[in-house]
Amino acid sequence: MNLPFIKQEKHFSLESLESYDDHKLVASFYSPKTNLKGFVAIHRGGLTRPAFGATRIWHYDSEEEALQDSLKLSKTMTYKLAMAQLKYGGAKAVIISPNLKAKEKQILLRSYGNWLNYLAGHLITGADVGIDPKDLEILASEYKGIVGRTTDAVKFTSLGVFYSIELTLKELYGSEDIAGKRFSIQGVGKVGLELLKMLDSQAEKIYISDIDRGRLNMVRKQFPNVEITSPKEIHKQKVDIFSPCALSNAINRNNVSSLGCKAIVGSANSQLEGHETGEVLNRIGILYAPDYIVNAGGVIAVVDEYENPRYSEKRILDKVKNIKETLRVVFAASKSQNKATNITADEQAEKVFNKIV
Ligand code: NAD
Repeated sequence: MNLPFIKQEKHFSLESLESYDDHKLVASFYSPKTNLKGFVAIHRGGLTRPAFGATRIWHYDSEEEALQDSLKLSKTMTYKLAMAQLKYGGAKAVIISPNLKAKEKQILLRSYGNWLNYLAGHLITGADVGIDPKDLEILASEYKGIVGRTTDAVKFTSLGVFYSIELTLKELYGSEDIAGKRFSIQGVGKVGLELLKMLDSQAEKIYISDIDRGRLNMVRKQFPNVEITSPKEIHKQKVDIFSPCALSNAINRNNVSSLGCKAIVGSANSQLEGHETGEVLNRIGILYAPDYIVNAGGVIAVVDEYENPRYSEKRILDKVKNIKETLRVVFAASKSQNKATNITADEQAEKVFNKIV
């Protein structure tokens, strides 16, 4: 396959990519005038009912890396929606961004929002990494299927991560208490920062890292007790919970043996480099809370926004609280079957979505 802007130094076929998994639609977009370049991947759903998946803006090193990320993340969305009992298929859009000034970003967003109309409503999208609430307004002025404007997805994602941390602590120590526990947070962006706010008053110790210096300075002022570590060292800290809240592949073949935590519970999508990484975690006794169960709060909130004309905090909260029970069931099944938690979660999700999307 020759995508229009793929550099031709390396040939590959879409089907050969690990996360291709028979995607229903993979589309590229390109507009040199507006700096717009990227992919939309729809893994399941999208015809009888729309597929859900947020849009990410990131400075990928290559088009292939961006394409791989869109495929992996959209597949994960299908699993996430299934485990959250939401009857939609998963999708993801990634925009490959050079460093843009504010005005250039607005032009890019308009151009992307306009292009989305080619999908004729089959994709409902919102904010992921690199997109903030005012960006959503620009997108919404061009495309109808934008969610997360009246619901605070970040708030519910962060809450879901917090509930998952409580459940994981209970699994480890028999008590949900945050007091006296040690945490490390990779990435103090939208979700990482909210999580930090929830943990700070009770935790014994919190380490954080980010690649954005400005962000770190802002956090240091608000939370003088947190310890800032280098992005290369964050996973090594001796903590109860390591919380990846940045990008994909936080746990990979290069760092899995140097993890210093007892458990991993974070918001980042596609935290494991591959299935085998989860199996290694299982072997070395680190409890992994599957990312797509933990971070479903945001999609639960935006699906609720899509389905209901009126906002109800209680309705959303009830669904987000259910994340704890979903995680408990996965931990129990994984223990009784002696399987890695990521494998158990995948098996349970596949049973659900193979029936519905
Ligand atoms: P964000 O862009 O606001 O924050 C990401 C942060 O990670 C940024 O501050 C960035 O500088 C930092 N970062 C990037 N690479 C890093 C590295 N190598 N080490 C340390 N920090 C690094 O994004 P967000 O909305 O907070 O999302 C965080 C993660 O959670 C993403 O993986 C996202 O897909 C996932 N997620 C978010 C939501 C949501 O509601 N926003 C929902 C579900 C999942």
